[in-house]
Amino acid sequence: AKEPVRVLVTGAAGQIGYALVPMIARGVMLGPDQPVILHMLDIPPAAEALNGVKMELVDAAFPLLKGVVATTDVVEACTGVNVAVMVGGFPRKEGMERKDVMSKNVSIYKSQASALEKHAAANCKVLVVANPANTNALILKEFAPSIPEKNITCLTRLDHNRALGQISERLSIQVSDVKNVIIWGNHSSSQYPDVNHATVKTPAGEKPVRELVKDDEWLNAEFITTVQQRGAAIIKARKLSSALSAASSACDHIRDWVLGTPEGTWVSMGVYSDGSYNVPAGLIYSFPVTCQNGEWKIVQGLSIDEFSRKKLDLTADELSEEKALAYSCLS
Ligand code: NDP
Repeated sequence: AKEPVRVLVTGAAGQIGYALVPMIARGVMLGPDQPVILHMLDIPPAAEALNGVKMELVDAAFPLLKGVVATTDVVEACTGVNVAVMVGGFPRKEGMERKDVMSKNVSIYKSQASALEKHAAANCKVLVVANPANTNALILKEFAPSIPEKNITCLTRLDHNRALGQISERLSIQVSDVKNVIIWGNHSSSQYPDVNHATVKTPAGEKPVRELVKDDEWLNAEFITTVQQRGAAIIKARKLSSALSAASSACDHIRDWVLGTPEGTWVSMGVYSDGSYNVPAGLIYSFPVTCQNGEWKIVQGLSIDEFSRKKLDLTADELSEEKALAYSCLS
């Protein structure tokens, strides 16, 4: 039998956490034959609720779940973890300045960086979900210098999946027949959902999305804004932010990273930029990646037209600004 993998979820008593932990315990994240031990962290005001989640995990009698650590102690939470999904964060409340939210979150990520660096298993894979996700991940990376930068990522898979969903709805086809959209940049409304390399499986072979949709005006405008604004649309409809889709996408992100992407398919991940596609090095930026043997690699050599270039640069500029703001909050 396989050794259990220890998976940390921070903010585990929150909405996304509540949707995510049963998925992990069912094997959605690491596969149906991989036992797991869940480490759940939350802050003291949420301790009772967190204990309730633990009770429900016991009640669900998940065969793959070999243990649950529910704690408000960050060291206990981080000890020995192989995968860390960072969902905990200070929510944006009405009337709060961007700088205030940034300031709260970067200080959380700075302190959790040290705890992970000191106590997580070697080669722990980190996924940051809490917003501002790219910049929180960057701060985590900077303050955990001994964790390899390739191990620190942020979630843009939800945006990627939303883009697949919009194309499948538009063409009335199965979402599983669409692939290779790209989310470039920040997990914010400046992100660029790019369909220029996306394809659809048809009885006559793979066809470019652009050839099938036959409506460049829709693809260059409404499609992009729908994906960028989807989070706000969910909040409007549900009066709560997206949680099940965020949790499901977090599982997709880790599963593909650990178990690999299918041949000929790429996914979007926020990763540390090496300067590919002239994106400034030193930002956590969402790129198309393929994964193999537990490592991601940025897909190289895709053509970028002038329309796309502007959008890649715009979202990079926003991330550079966020980085500067984050540092100004820490100093
Ligand atoms: P959620 O579980 O709904 O969201 C958690 C974080 O994920 C937020 O930062 C949210 O950003 C972000 N997020 C990223 N992508 C998405 C997406 N697509 N849809 C929705 N959210 C997304 O928040 P809750 O308030 O329910 O739970 C947060 C938990 O974190 C609580 O249990 C709280 O106690 C804990 N917490 C932990 C702290 C710590 O570790 N020190 C500090 C403060 C809280 P956004 O706000 O932009 O929606």
